[in-house]
Amino acid sequence: MSSIIDSLKRVQQQIVQTAVQCERNPDSIQLLAVSKTKPVNAVIEAADAGQRAFGENYGQEGVEKIRAVRSLRPDLKLEWHFIGPVQSNKTRPIAENFDWVHAVDRERIAKRLSDQRPEGMKPINICLQVNISGEASKSGVAPEEVLSLAKAVSEYPNVKLRGLMAIPEPEMDPVKQHEPFKAMKALFNLLKENGFGVDTLSMGMSADMVPAIQEGATIVRIGTAIFGVRDYANR
Ligand SMILES: *Cc1c(COP(=O)(O)O)cnc(C)c1O
Repeated sequence: MSSIIDSLKRVQQQIVQTAVQCERNPDSIQLLAVSKTKPVNAVIEAADAGQRAFGENYGQEGVEKIRAVRSLRPDLKLEWHFIGPVQSNKTRPIAENFDWVHAVDRERIAKRLSDQRPEGMKPINICLQVNISGEASKSGVAPEEVLSLAKAVSEYPNVKLRGLMAIPEPEMDPVKQHEPFKAMKALFNLLKENGFGVDTLSMGMSADMVPAIQEGATIVRIGTAIFGVRDYANR
């Protein structure tokens, strides 16, 4: 077995095991394989092992990969998630090629994605990125502004608000790792209480997948633990 298939199986098992331990249905947690910087054949290898959803961070790289996979393997029905920061002048290729965008943090991005979504395609699924660790430099909407942003983006016909996403500050202390995920779950519940039909809490990466699942993640975004370390130190 290749190392990608091995690693994929190991991550899947860890999701099931964690879910069972905290009395959640393992099927309520979707594994998003983060393939940024990784080659087309790595995606195809994971897809042939049953992986369906893939995450990309960079617009051009992502679009090229989507096209290459489609032309090499038109039989594969994959779901593509854009998980990187979205610049408002670079929304069009995302709106035209992706099924999901995880890091919407202002109304303008939602408006552009909606305007640029091609006719005949389903509305693009979006999550609002929340700046849950509260650092000044990080992207994401402030927790106290989540409700008003949710209201604003819900006005646009070609985007569908699915839920919330966060990238908490790296935290080594296993107890403290839970805090931002708990806070995200509370915000997610707040949206539901306010009548938003949300079903997605996108949180947890290779280093903090377990506490994220324990606190209610419905999508975990896993790169390194499936595909190995990335080639670029800053990616
Ligand atoms: C790169 C990335 C991931 C995957 O991170 P790993 O630590 O490699 O699992 C998840 N989410 C986002 C937003 C990323 O940029």
